[in-house]
Amino acid sequence: MTRYSGEMQIWRSMRAVALCFLGLVGLTLSYPHSRASAAPAYSPDNPPPNALPKEIEMGDKAAAELEKSPKIKLLDPNKDPQAKVLLDKLNKMAGELAKASTRPEIKYTVKVINDKDMNAFTLPNGHIYVYKGLIDAVASDDEMAAVLAHEIGHNCRMHALRAEAKAKKLSWVNVAALLGMVAGGRSGADMAAFSQYMLLGIMNGYGIEYEKEADSAAVKELVKTTYNPSAMVTLMERFDQEEKRMPDMNLGIFQTHPTSAERVAAAMADIMEAGIPFTPRDVKGGQEATVAETLDRVSVKIDAVTIAEFALVPNQTPSAKERAQKAAQQVNDLLKANLKMHEITVDGDDHNARLLARGVEIARVTPADAKLENTTPSLCAQKWRDGFKRIFWRENINGKL
Ligand SMILES: [Zn+2]
Repeated sequence: MTRYSGEMQIWRSMRAVALCFLGLVGLTLSYPHSRASAAPAYSPDNPPPNALPKEIEMGDKAAAELEKSPKIKLLDPNKDPQAKVLLDKLNKMAGELAKASTRPEIKYTVKVINDKDMNAFTLPNGHIYVYKGLIDAVASDDEMAAVLAHEIGHNCRMHALRAEAKAKKLSWVNVAALLGMVAGGRSGADMAAFSQYMLLGIMNGYGIEYEKEADSAAVKELVKTTYNPSAMVTLMERFDQEEKRMPDMNLGIFQTHPTSAERVAAAMADIMEAGIPFTPRDVKGGQEATVAETLDRVSVKIDAVTIAEFALVPNQTPSAKERAQKAAQQVNDLLKANLKMHEITVDGDDHNARLLARGVEIARVTPADAKLENTTPSLCAQKWRDGFKRIFWRENINGKL
């Protein structure tokens, strides 16, 4: 196993779901040494003329090392026609985003790693590696564009050169002093393991600033394209959910990577600053409420989850179907308007029990509706409320919200 793929393994064991340029950081920060060298003043706002050739050289070397690792299995467009369609699409998207970026001179090549991890990273030569797991997890082209825009953002901010310059300032003396301070009294074996984590911590420490910069650059790129920048937020929300589901992500004092929740807030602020509307439902492929009729009832459902069921009663006005259609319409309108789970409520007693969302009546429970459930109208309304809320839980679990 090469040193490089060993580092990949560490990252994988972290189940690092946040978007990272892990290959790049792994390569450039894994060799801190004691030679004091003046760090070149790389400024992404005023790049030195020789920056790009150096980045391409760094990136080409890293790409060669990466791609020869047996752990990296790339989709091959020459062998798989489906992969070709996917790669053509991703490369077209990257080209559009690069044009809208602050460094349109960088030529991007998207590659797909055939692995279920939800991750992506970039190299400074313009290679963007996206894991198949992340492609499967995004809900729309807008979200895919947000991933690519983020990776392009790393290159626009010259993170490879800046990370290298920072790494050269590190000395083993400093690292050893830190280790002694934090891990005093540990055995040699523990120290060896600990030093791996220490390096990981340093890498993550550098990561914070850069991930935030890349997110911000990504929103600015997306604003200039036909892709919806709201996707940056919905994507981060999804990562936030993933983080919450994976307690092994917690690395204690090394948990310095910006949480997805922070990144959600920052991306939202960037969208507000750009003066564009936040329209999450347009980019995250949310499901719609539909109406289904059976022998004795008309149901309002999203996927297989029932929100409300109306009893079929002869000569009733409005009919059960009309009531269901109205309820489904209200639900869909409110979902599009970014309805939150806590806004789903009930009110009234057994004479006028109602299901409400954001204060709007979705449906009123009739005695016949309650009878379908063998319960009282008030309890039936609560059941509808709980069903409606379950949609949100489910969508969270499926990563659709
Ligand atoms: Zn990143």
